[in-house]
Amino acid sequence: MEKNKTGYSKDTNTPVKFLKGVGEARARMLAKLGIRRVIDLMEHFPRNYISRNIDPALHEVQPGDHLAFSANISWVDARPTKSGKKMVNVGLNDGHNTLVCTWFHFPSWYEQILKPGQSIWVNGVISEYNRQLQMLHPEIELISDDEDTDFWKSRSCLPVYPLTANLSQKQMRNLVYTAFEGYAQYIEENLPQKLIEKHGFRDRNTALQLMHFGLDVNVINQTKQRFAYEEFFFIQLLWARHKYYHKTQVQGIKFTNKKLHTTALKHKLPFTLTDAQARVITEIFADMCSETQMTRLVQGDVGSGKTVVTLFAMLLAVENGYQAALMAPTEILAEQHFATISRLLGGMDIKVCLLKGGSYKGKAQDLEDIASGHYQLIIGTHALIQDKAQYHSLGFVAVDEQHRFGVQQRASLAQKDKHPDILYLSATPIPRSLSMTVYGDLEVSIIDELPPTRKAVVTLVRSNRKIDLVWEDVRKQLRQKRQAYVVCPLVEESDKVDLLDAERLHEHLSTHVFKEFRCELIHGRMPTAQKDEIMRRFKQGETDLLVSTTVIEVGVDVPNATVMVIEHAERFGLAQMHQLRGRVGRGADQAYCYLIEHQPISKIAAQRLHTMVSSTDGFVIAEKDLELRGPGEFFGTEQAGLPAFRFANLIADQHILKKARQDAFEIIAKDPDLNAEEHRVLKDILKRELHDREQLIMY
Ligand code: ADP
Ligand code: MG
Repeated sequence: MEKNKTGYSKDTNTPVKFLKGVGEARARMLAKLGIRRVIDLMEHFPRNYISRNIDPALHEVQPGDHLAFSANISWVDARPTKSGKKMVNVGLNDGHNTLVCTWFHFPSWYEQILKPGQSIWVNGVISEYNRQLQMLHPEIELISDDEDTDFWKSRSCLPVYPLTANLSQKQMRNLVYTAFEGYAQYIEENLPQKLIEKHGFRDRNTALQLMHFGLDVNVINQTKQRFAYEEFFFIQLLWARHKYYHKTQVQGIKFTNKKLHTTALKHKLPFTLTDAQARVITEIFADMCSETQMTRLVQGDVGSGKTVVTLFAMLLAVENGYQAALMAPTEILAEQHFATISRLLGGMDIKVCLLKGGSYKGKAQDLEDIASGHYQLIIGTHALIQDKAQYHSLGFVAVDEQHRFGVQQRASLAQKDKHPDILYLSATPIPRSLSMTVYGDLEVSIIDELPPTRKAVVTLVRSNRKIDLVWEDVRKQLRQKRQAYVVCPLVEESDKVDLLDAERLHEHLSTHVFKEFRCELIHGRMPTAQKDEIMRRFKQGETDLLVSTTVIEVGVDVPNATVMVIEHAERFGLAQMHQLRGRVGRGADQAYCYLIEHQPISKIAAQRLHTMVSSTDGFVIAEKDLELRGPGEFFGTEQAGLPAFRFANLIADQHILKKARQDAFEIIAKDPDLNAEEHRVLKDILKRELHDREQLIMY
């Protein structure tokens, strides 16, 4: 490859600072936008496009339409408002009709630049005021005729880029142009020809240029799909390879369905399994009875009955002479599972052990009895995978609330002993598109049905000004010997202000409102032992009302709790509110969830509250959550390994993801090491750009 005078071979990986018009200072500005190499600049796609024509014409547009167009200003009217502030109205005319753009607050320089005859571009939503078409606070840009290059001057469509301070649209446009002028010939294709043809994509060079220089927004949008596809495809390629090697090189245990303990359990259950539970058990058994090591994720809303499903899988391992373990993220959850499972197994000759962290009386003996194979079912916390725990013959492991465990812990489980079959349990209903990218190597089973005995929780939004009425309702429940949760937001563990909120509220409720009841406070900064103790008292009915921060989120089961009050509900995310609501309605009685809103609240917060009221389906709520917040925030900060998408949208582009996944898995099934000539381009990229990421997931 030809070298330029800087000594870099001339390709699209050249640092931007070597581009004409970019020096050290500008390179630093560009770096803030993630632009370091020429190719990054080429992949810095416009967020919008300026069309120089009004299309459609103003007489065709309706209030509610989103419109971006440019026109000449016909008049400007700046005047003081009644409240002493200033407003600006600007008239834009397409030759027949007028649109008024209105700003009630604006930077002072608006008045200088908004002049009759000036050509501007506006972007906003059409409304109507006194029968006049209007745009409130549109985004604007001046269109000047002195663009640096002749190239942009004559364009009927101009790109609008995401920018950073000290960089103008004009400068960015010229930089992009310079990048393509000097380097377009070095743009490399990254997809096999076959896939390009199959999906009717444009080649990468053309596609990149169209994103910046295209004149037809429809063509641009169509072109953009190629980039969403690429983004999905390479992740799926990694997952496909991971799965392929797992399947062909890791020898798992092959169980046989002996119908001993499993059948015995089925006969003694106090209820009938839901169809969804039965289906998922069948899916798990099929995996366990194959040679491959199972890695399956069971997703089911809170209360959908994942524990029973897990118990069937554990018993299949036991009837084959193996031990089975269930790992929970907290001690109290482990205890709860231990109690539930011991109860369900009552009368059957199966040895169950509870293994906790730290040192306690009897632990050494338990460890010995686990190692000797005396215990068949072992339930516990992280203690299960710590080195001291040696198993006699571990054949199956279930991980509850799996998102609480990191990639490393999952890996260490998968490698234990004879590669036990692994079942991950999740009560966070993850939209299909997300699980395909985050857990792309796992099989997924979904329990999408609640036991018929469960009644939907009645959800009500109430203003904090009417909080007294809510406390009245809560009192009615407490008088009937039911229990209640009151949750306060805690933005971060270190957020002192909110912590005080919970403390103050507890003080107020316990000394005034609910004086005659037993109230307790629990929050995230308490030592674990103290938290567990408080939860235990609540579970046993020794407390009537629990004021808490979100620490009660985890799947603790208190069937007698019938009320959940969420203070400052507008501050909670959807997934979190749904989890909290799932804490009640676990018994036979009707349960209630009060969402207390403190005005003013944002539009998005209002949408979240509305979603909570209108749906109790965790999957519906999760989709909405993803749509409102975006995938990065979906899991909160603790969720590592979630790729950030630059071009793709996990909700809108699900159909593209499906195609990309299918293509990637088909290619790897035929050519796992990508040795075929037609896959050379993929092999190169894998080696050059995806090596680190592949190392991370190849356990
Ligand atoms: P989760 O999916 O939240 O872990 P659990 O497994 O804790 O749910 O089950 C919640 C409750 O529902 C438990 O008390 C369990 O015994 C009960 N349960 C599970 N399956 C059924 C069913 N098919 N019919 C009735 N009750 C069930
Ligand atoms: Mg559970």
